[in-house]
Amino acid sequence: MKQYDFLVVGAGIFGITAAVELQKRGYQVGVLNPDSIPHPMAASTDISKVIRMEYGADLEYMAMADAAIDGWHGWNDFFQDKLYHETGFLMLCKQNASNDPESFEGASSSNLIRRGHQPERLSKKDLELRFPAFASGPYTDAIFNSRAGFAESGRVVQRLAAYAVQLGVEIWQYQSVLLFEKNKGRVVAVQTREGQRFAAGEILLCAGAYTPNLLPELKPILRATGHPVFHLRPSRPELFQFPQFSVFTSDISHTGWYGFPLHPTENVVKIANHGIGIELDPERDERVVTAGDIANLRAFLEEHIPTLANDPVVFTRRCLYSDTRDGHFWIDRHPELKNLVVAAGGSGHGFKMAPVLGAMIADVATGGKHKWSDRYRWRQFDANTRQLEEARFKAE
Ligand SMILES: Cc1cc2nc3c(=O)[nH]c(=O)nc-3n(C[C@H](O)[C@H](O)[C@H](O)COP(=O)(O)OP(=O)(O)OC[C@H]3O[C@@H](n4cnc5c(N)ncnc54)[C@H](O)[C@@H]3O)c2cc1C
Repeated sequence: MKQYDFLVVGAGIFGITAAVELQKRGYQVGVLNPDSIPHPMAASTDISKVIRMEYGADLEYMAMADAAIDGWHGWNDFFQDKLYHETGFLMLCKQNASNDPESFEGASSSNLIRRGHQPERLSKKDLELRFPAFASGPYTDAIFNSRAGFAESGRVVQRLAAYAVQLGVEIWQYQSVLLFEKNKGRVVAVQTREGQRFAAGEILLCAGAYTPNLLPELKPILRATGHPVFHLRPSRPELFQFPQFSVFTSDISHTGWYGFPLHPTENVVKIANHGIGIELDPERDERVVTAGDIANLRAFLEEHIPTLANDPVVFTRRCLYSDTRDGHFWIDRHPELKNLVVAAGGSGHGFKMAPVLGAMIADVATGGKHKWSDRYRWRQFDANTRQLEEARFKAE
């Protein structure tokens, strides 16, 4: 039976950043993941994910994302590969953000300024001139922050997995964990569906939306929720190329709508919705985008991006969040199983933090703390627990 210091279950962004960091710290790390890496059904596997500092009144997430953006630049240099595209982040507001300081946009803008950044306020005229694809009619205000953009998430996981192997991590693809063998409060071995057994001093469970399927005691805490993603082939691609277009949110805390500029290699415009989602079982339930979802998309485009409203949808996907009830990540040691650590709960906003995630998870996994890890500790929820991530459309 293969023995490691750390065995990481799941090679999405949580697992692979932790594996790299732990191997760099001198531990022998093994990683198990079903099929190939990046796994096609993993949340981390996509053409793009938003990288933003804008978190409304939440200064801790803003500080984390600010540090992460330095990390993204570092990875672009280190890998000599443009994984992160700094196209900026445009918040389109139905209300005037300065009259609404507690709104996601108003609070984000004032906190950016507080942290020394210089977001720009755009008038309707500015919006029409700089971002002509948008209908300016619905908006009274717009805020553009140039220190933000998107990362090619699937390629990031691929790069990090190759780097992990270079460092000496043993990655086992096509190994899907079936169960943990437990004895006297410890996980003594891990069994896979493929009939293999693995052991380690410490087990790190990073299975995203599948995590509660391996650890049922987390079912009341971590839910898998499915969210629609659409790729459109624009008939006028020039209108969606940066700097004519950037990552944007459209009154997101009240609608959920956000999107990306023309993808540099896929030549599509991705639009998605950061809302409630549909609760699903990752193993059993189908993940489909319905005709109703497409109709909602078309209605949004007709009003807000008319130049894209009749263009073909060339790909759809319902992707799963590993959703905690309060929207904060879940990174902590298991209270009973002494050598098991859980790192999951990305709740639809974890990918951007990749450059700081590895160190945070490794600190917790080696028995320490990280300056930002406290609020991801093992915690209780009750009937009053609310989703706290301010960009998220909660339909309350
Ligand atoms: C539609 C959508 C849009 C998003 N947009 C953004 C965004 O714009 N910006 C942002 O910051 N975040 C975004 N997120 C959130 C972000 O993608 C996630 O927080 C992050 O990718 C979660 O990473 P993970 O490693 O926890 O999970 P995954 O990436 O899901 O990785 C889990 C891994 O575990 C493996 N696994 C599962 N079961 C087993 C098993 N039994 N044995 C071994 N391995 C197993 C899976 O194959 C997979 O590789 C979005 C998420 C979704 C779904």
